[in-house]
Amino acid sequence: MSKQTRWTPKDCEPKQLPIYQHKNKLIQAVRSSTFLIVTGETGSGKTTQLPQYLHQAGFCKDGKIGVTQPRRVAAITVAQRVAQEMKCTLGREIGYQVRFDDCTSQDTVLKYMTDGCLLREVLADPVLSQYSVVILDEVHERSLNTDILLGLLKKVFSNPREAMKGRSFPLKVVVMSATLETDKLSSFFNNCPVFEIPGRVFPVASMFGTAVGPKDVESTFYVKEVVKVALDVHTSEEAGDILVFLTGQSEIEHACDMLFEKAENIDYRYDVQDRTVEGLLILPLYGSMPTDQQRQIFQAPPPGIRKCVVATNIAATSLTINGIKYIVDSGFVKQLNHNSRVGMDVLEVVPISKSEAQQRAGRAGRTSAGKCFRIYTKGFWEKCMPEYTIPEIQRTSLTAVILTLKCLGVHDVIRFPYLDCPEERFILEALKQLYQFDAIDRRGRVTKLGELMVEFPLHPGLTRALLKAASLSCQDLLLPVAAMLSVENIFIRPGQPDKQKEAAKQHRELAAKTGSMNDFATLLSVFNACKSSDRPSGWCKENWIHWRALKSAFSVETQLREILLRLQQRRDFPFETFDGNKSELFRRCLCAGYFTNVARRSVGKVFCTMDGHGSMVHIHPSSSLFEQDVELNWVIFHDVLVTSKMYIRTVCPIRYEWVKDLLPKLHEVDVYELSSVARQEVTEDEMVKWESREAAKRQQEASAEDV
Ligand code: ADP
Ligand code: MG
Repeated sequence: MSKQTRWTPKDCEPKQLPIYQHKNKLIQAVRSSTFLIVTGETGSGKTTQLPQYLHQAGFCKDGKIGVTQPRRVAAITVAQRVAQEMKCTLGREIGYQVRFDDCTSQDTVLKYMTDGCLLREVLADPVLSQYSVVILDEVHERSLNTDILLGLLKKVFSNPREAMKGRSFPLKVVVMSATLETDKLSSFFNNCPVFEIPGRVFPVASMFGTAVGPKDVESTFYVKEVVKVALDVHTSEEAGDILVFLTGQSEIEHACDMLFEKAENIDYRYDVQDRTVEGLLILPLYGSMPTDQQRQIFQAPPPGIRKCVVATNIAATSLTINGIKYIVDSGFVKQLNHNSRVGMDVLEVVPISKSEAQQRAGRAGRTSAGKCFRIYTKGFWEKCMPEYTIPEIQRTSLTAVILTLKCLGVHDVIRFPYLDCPEERFILEALKQLYQFDAIDRRGRVTKLGELMVEFPLHPGLTRALLKAASLSCQDLLLPVAAMLSVENIFIRPGQPDKQKEAAKQHRELAAKTGSMNDFATLLSVFNACKSSDRPSGWCKENWIHWRALKSAFSVETQLREILLRLQQRRDFPFETFDGNKSELFRRCLCAGYFTNVARRSVGKVFCTMDGHGSMVHIHPSSSLFEQDVELNWVIFHDVLVTSKMYIRTVCPIRYEWVKDLLPKLHEVDVYELSSVARQEVTEDEMVKWESREAAKRQQEASAEDV
């Protein structure tokens, strides 16, 4: 590596940040209006500094300051940083709360949290009476929960008199965004003031590559290519750290393995994260990483060593890493999209938008001029990359959110104040699913079951299965499964081929132990085996299981159990009986939640989904059913992964009889009827008419079947 003109730690001292000069004006701006928009370049100090300014200015006298983040890692890391700056113990005055991890106490006055957590708080306390300031951060990300919070806060706090009901002091709402859309946000909040923090940016030269062209939208060799480009940068460019943008945990781990192997061909153990090879310090960064490892990302590397962070989109705006001079952009992102081919949400690798690509490139120009190496061609940019990223609310399932809104008394979910309206068919799809799960009735009103379901921070299907199990007093079968499906992937998949074989063999043995060829049962058995082991971490190592992920699963299970216990105290908690064996009981409970994900064997190993879309799906190689030759005719599955084919993951064989009575629910509801229900409360009269029409329809269908 050539001479260093390294960025000095002084650059990120709070008083050096662009926001510092505007401290007093900002405090004043927050004081003088209910809603305020704050924008500024990423890294200007919005997230870490503004809450501290408000704290110093006495905003915590009446209530707490809450700051939301769309990503859990960001909430945790930023809270740590602020606690460090304020010299407090994390969890006391400064705390964070993310799903399944609450690090706050009675003393917490400044709380960072995910937007999902604040949404849950709104459910319990619609006027947020404990807060004096709520800051919605990273609004440009347009996450589903943030968008819903925007609408709810506008609805509740636009009318000053309404807003004071249940509160003794007014709430201040600050909306923060990297750039973009400030006019739109301001007009959404009744033309509220906008505070712009002028940024410092250095030029970034962006270069297109040759590897990924317009025809490579579905290719997977981008991982190899970014590794190659990163190594080129390391060997030919002058000092400065590298930030590589990739798609997800497994791709990142794979790339880190390759970087490491290429840089020096030595063996390493999986738990060694700090891999310094020939002047390159390789560090992964993704959502579910443990926080102690994340801390390293922010530290300056030792002298003469170049840091190479391989990250998901989280490093685009949520977290700022100092010292980055080079960007390697894969051009792809992993996104949860509603796939109309499959009729459900699937995780897909898709090209990023042009604005996203510019944001990524900008990360190289914070402290000096930088360079951005794109692995894709100009043609790919022009033909495959959209101008802007579509907000999540317009591309994912709204089921959980609509149930939350309904529980908050928002019945007209179509005319709710959305910043960008979701397509009406997505709303109808959500209503339909809620109806199928018995969470709402035909009039669109939340049922008793729906009230129970909304308490769980899980997918409604999984919640439904869990509640079914609880009503049959066998929650011990489902709680671990729900927990295991709520944490990162527990199975280690090493990059090296021989290790990969060894791990796969071990995983197959774990599955075989359950004797039932059911991936859900494998999760349950891994959970229990590890929990009862004397040396759980050793057990994990022997079995190629992520100990860290299992530890989280243990904690999640406890928390879900607490929620359940609380609900079971209610007198109206459902109770049922069942006589049959345990394996059937287990799978029947799963069917109660997963009947929307049923597939029937078509030919060979190809299955066809039963939700009306009739998509052709394949069993994913990670499933214990993948290599089975046994006749499987019906299966349920947890999710779908779309690559070159459509794969179903976490699969379980079932019998048709178990879903026979549930499947008609997938088709019986007429979305147009639900649409009128969505708009308004239906009168008794209309209801009677509707019911008789439905009855006639059913009769017709029945006679058609007779023929
Ligand atoms: P913004 O929200 O405007 O993007 P931030 O408040 O997140 O800006 O960041 C301000 C500065 O604080 C940046 O220089 C960033 O690198 C630094 N910073 C934030 N978190 C950490 C951390 N955990 N460790 C070290 N530096 C950090
Ligand atoms: Mg920020």
